[in-house]
Amino acid sequence: LFVSFEGGDGAGKTTQTRLLAEWLRAHGREVVLTREPGGTELGRTLRAAVLHGEHVDARTEALLYATDRAHHVASLVRPALERGAVVVTDRYLDSSVAYQGSGRDLGADEVERLSLWATGGLLPAVTVLLDLDPDVGRARLTGDPDRLESEGGDFHRRTRLAFLDRAAAQPGRWLVLDATAPAEEIAAAVQARVTAVLSA
Ligand code: C5P
Ligand code: MG
Repeated sequence: LFVSFEGGDGAGKTTQTRLLAEWLRAHGREVVLTREPGGTELGRTLRAAVLHGEHVDARTEALLYATDRAHHVASLVRPALERGAVVVTDRYLDSSVAYQGSGRDLGADEVERLSLWATGGLLPAVTVLLDLDPDVGRARLTGDPDRLESEGGDFHRRTRLAFLDRAAAQPGRWLVLDATAPAEEIAAAVQARVTAVLSA
């Protein structure tokens, strides 16, 4: 089973991926908890380059994320799924469609095609969208802003709408949750969906 969490910065993806992993492990499942960008050694180099390195244009940025994703899937995600583990990832290709496709205006369809090529067409069975007003998310963040966190409000509003559009277009894969709800409530809703998919 492959589960991804999506949403803006400060929405609680990291907390919820951890809660889901703990819950699955408590039920005896092998879980690989990972993230994009930066789920592999090469990915951590790419993450530092794209978030804190030299400024790059939008196409280069999209290709760096796609490179991270291709290697992540080939070296970690696919092998884990093949041995029967549950993979829980903090961001996956829908982040690229939203941030590079809509935020950077490269086009959602083109960026999706790039990601599907990079991953050999691997899509999650469940994608949880933690939906949040970007201004609220920004206020929740602590520490040094990375390049994306310091983008203007319009950028983050476009990416939020892009996530919501994709979720509305593919309701079978997506679970859209209000990220301002209490963490335990969100975790329970995620567990209910995962239980349904595991027993289907
Ligand atoms: O969620 P995380 O903190 O790991 O994301 C790092 C930064 O990269 C965030 O500011 C996020 O908005 C950005 N990002 C992006 N395009 C992606 C994935 C993440 O712009 N495809
Ligand atoms: Mg962040």
